[in-house]
Amino acid sequence: MATDRLYYTDSYLTEFTARVTAVNGVQVQLDRTAFYPTSGGQQFDTGRLGGTQVVDVTQDDENVTHVLAEAPTFGAGANVTGVVDWRRRFDHMQQHTGQHLLSAILHDTLDAPTVSVHFGDASCTLDVGAALSREAAARIEARANEIIVGNRPVAVSFEDAAAASSLRKASARSGTLRIVTIDGVDRSACGGTHVRATGEIGPVLVRRIERYKNLTRVEFLCGSRAVARARADYDALARMAASLTTGIDELPGLVSANAESVRSLQSECRKLMESLATYRVRELHHAAQQGADGIRRVAAPAASPGELRALGHSASILERMVFVGTCSVPPTVLLAASADSGVNAGAALKAALGAYGGRGGGNERLAQCTVPDTTALAAIVANLMRPPAR
Ligand SMILES: [Zn+2]
Repeated sequence: MATDRLYYTDSYLTEFTARVTAVNGVQVQLDRTAFYPTSGGQQFDTGRLGGTQVVDVTQDDENVTHVLAEAPTFGAGANVTGVVDWRRRFDHMQQHTGQHLLSAILHDTLDAPTVSVHFGDASCTLDVGAALSREAAARIEARANEIIVGNRPVAVSFEDAAAASSLRKASARSGTLRIVTIDGVDRSACGGTHVRATGEIGPVLVRRIERYKNLTRVEFLCGSRAVARARADYDALARMAASLTTGIDELPGLVSANAESVRSLQSECRKLMESLATYRVRELHHAAQQGADGIRRVAAPAASPGELRALGHSASILERMVFVGTCSVPPTVLLAASADSGVNAGAALKAALGAYGGRGGGNERLAQCTVPDTTALAAIVANLMRPPAR
């Protein structure tokens, strides 16, 4: 005989007695249960059965199966007491009823059908088949909270599918439907657990709105989850505001002004670095001895890839100059050769890399390569600094 599901008619029932109909390892089936199995997007209940922890609850068409933390001491035929963890159950009831309410308002005000629902451990989402602006989301949140404060009754009824009318979403099932009605707001076929009046949903917070393919994913939290999330959001904002010695309300303006200022400083810094690189390379060029082939060969380290490129550019336009620059993060070698040096930077660097390996390339004047590690750099530099054999 199928498990009698006590939560269908009383979602506030947390303690019950039942007869064990089957035990298979840690899996237990009962003649009746108040434990909700994972289904319809809602997660399973936890609690204790005959004193042992219930860690999962599953179902098939007929039966509910309780998965225990360890094999039970009782066997088939025994009478056991089940206790459902009320905190977890009530939290699920709040999220689930809040979802019905939000889906109903989205349907009625924006003609936006709910396509799917996900109830997560931290927050829940529903996907609607319509675009949704932040302003519209805020209006829906406000309307939901109005209805919640109105404390409308939420009732469960069992109706024949053929006769059940004005459902938000037509049910594909036949036979008896379990219908959850929020008085004057919504009628939906649903097998989940719900609160008995909208006031028990507690506050609803609509949070992230994300366009997802041709849907909009709406994140929402109800009850103490909404308060905890708002608290965490406030704490994060307060920390940011304190670090900028401003108030939370001033944060958006100050953060975008700071970002603009950083962009402008970065641009200024890049120009200064390029200018400094020009002077530095000229100085190195001036101080270097000409080789037997009349070329000045200079090697110098740079602090960053950006500075390395700036040095290379400046070097490539000097007279009879070959410049070998390095930087250690990431291990990089750059070769710059002036047009009158007779050196092809791209070809020379490729030859010098030899067996060391590396990724990069360049043209006749400027070539650059990252190598696997810094130990290879010194050998490659020595190779490039050597004048070609006559
Ligand atoms: Zn439901």
